[in-house]
Amino acid sequence: MGCDIHVAAERAPKTPGGRWIHIPDPVRPCWGCMRSPITVDDVGKVRRKHRPKTPKPDCYWCKGTGKAQEEWYRGRNYALFARLADVRTGGGNITQHAPPRGFPPATSNEVNEKLGELDGDLHSHTWFLLSELLKIDWDKQTYDEERCVTQEGFAQWKAGGELDWKMTSTLAMQGEGIELTNIEMENLIESKVSLPRHWTRIIHREPYGEAFGVAIRELRAHARRKLDAAPDQVRMIFAFDN
Ligand SMILES: [Zn+2]
Repeated sequence: MGCDIHVAAERAPKTPGGRWIHIPDPVRPCWGCMRSPITVDDVGKVRRKHRPKTPKPDCYWCKGTGKAQEEWYRGRNYALFARLADVRTGGGNITQHAPPRGFPPATSNEVNEKLGELDGDLHSHTWFLLSELLKIDWDKQTYDEERCVTQEGFAQWKAGGELDWKMTSTLAMQGEGIELTNIEMENLIESKVSLPRHWTRIIHREPYGEAFGVAIRELRAHARRKLDAAPDQVRMIFAFDN
């Protein structure tokens, strides 16, 4: 079974000794319609690299609204999990940023409900101040991430081209379509048959900054613009399943 990360954010209490205040998950341009990673510009505005004129009315994620609320970070990046919480280290040589800290004190109701330790499915809780996470240069280091790509995407990736996010299989993300091995997909491409429901898994190398670093910058911009909170007044809480 795979292991997934669950993330929530909180800001510091306004009075000493109070409880932390939940920061709702961001509402972003829909991934399913745009099929591209998010970027954060200098003023903290979040957008997707690709921007179609209209959302898809039958979109699985946004139901045609073009906007979707999603966790600050989603992704299955085991090297990141290891660095954050000593999860899934797999014997690799991974530097942890801090020993796991457990579930933080004085959490909000929302975080208790979502990530609380009473939920038996979650484990390895830890948390970081946003200021701590911002000290790490996420763009400098790379990791290998699994991606499910379409036939077209696989051909492009094999040819050494840049992996366009439009080539990610949305069917695979929904647990649908038909999975092929890399060899089966190569044979399919050679036979020049086009099968849009078929997809295959690849391991793609990219910088942490591509996803996790962006999420942290987005949270920093949101805290500054909407909450008037400094990075040391904001924390991210992490838990893992399976
Ligand atoms: Zn959509």
